[in-house]
Amino acid sequence: MKIDLRSDTVTRPTEAMREAMFSAPVGDDVFGEDPSVIQLEEYAARLFDMEAALFCPSGTMTNQLAIKVHTQPGDEVICDHTAHIYIHEGGGIAFHSGCSVRLLAGNRGRFTAQDVEENINTIDVHHPVTRLVSIENTCNKGGGSIWDFDEIIRIRRACTENGLNLHLNGDRIFNALAATGDEPAHFGRAFDSISVCLSKGLGAPVGSLLLGGSDFIRQARRFRRMMGGGMRQAGYLAAAGSYALHNNIPRLADDHARAKTLGAVVQELSFVEEVLPVETNIVLFRLNEAMPAGNFIKMLAEKEMLVVPFGKQYIRMVTHLDINDDHLEEACSLLRKMEGRM
Ligand SMILES: *Cc1c(COP(=O)(O)O)cnc(C)c1O
Repeated sequence: MKIDLRSDTVTRPTEAMREAMFSAPVGDDVFGEDPSVIQLEEYAARLFDMEAALFCPSGTMTNQLAIKVHTQPGDEVICDHTAHIYIHEGGGIAFHSGCSVRLLAGNRGRFTAQDVEENINTIDVHHPVTRLVSIENTCNKGGGSIWDFDEIIRIRRACTENGLNLHLNGDRIFNALAATGDEPAHFGRAFDSISVCLSKGLGAPVGSLLLGGSDFIRQARRFRRMMGGGMRQAGYLAAAGSYALHNNIPRLADDHARAKTLGAVVQELSFVEEVLPVETNIVLFRLNEAMPAGNFIKMLAEKEMLVVPFGKQYIRMVTHLDINDDHLEEACSLLRKMEGRM
């Protein structure tokens, strides 16, 4: 049995999702004529109580478009030092937007309004102009950690008082919402822009949405074109996204429960030094010296169980749509058996 826990991006469309894709009405979206894309964008914007949305090929593109529209070259972006926009998007902030980055040392990816306030540059010819704050929820490098909404509101206030824009890299926002029971619209009202990934836990094959005000989205649409992200009959993909938003949100709680079970099993292993608190669908843990990460990954791969290295001696496992209770049981059994094979 193949158990792929490398990422929640490895899911494949279900039969019902494929059906929705094949029967989607389509048109040329660069001409603004694809009804399935329009339907997805309008639905998502309403869900988050934002004015408009833009369907894009990837979460990297939605984040980079947001940074591009919010800033001018020479400006500065505040984010955590583990932020996806900083470490996993190919240096895009420098390349597309020409901005410098002010990195904060948060708690598993989460910082405070006070951290933000202390890192806003004064207006002075020496300094870059602080323009944008970006937060990630859930935090990938934090092991799927969730932000406290009250802190988000405090950061919103600090941004408003200082004339800064606030972006949410919400590629796993539905995991956070599933865990806290909070409303998407609360997030929509707190941020100037939000990026939402459809091809992670929600199970669509491709696509992300950028949400924001009408004028902001108009500008993002222009930059999307410039970056080569204007797609033609994209409705086939958008239909998968709509299907995901309508059908795959309630089941995220199952992913979280399975991740908790995996985390508890990992916690018991003698060669595991530390497991980060399992808050959503990510299990992040550190192996001790008795178990080099390369060996751990190889031993599991021989049994068709796939996990990824995530920094020195750290391993990440992610539950998703294609991991059911049989996979979970087998994964737990393989992990326990490793104890005897050291
Ligand atoms: C997956 C992910 C993204 C976007 O990645 P793409 O592969 O470009 O879709 C952005 N931020 C976080 C935290 C992610 O996990």
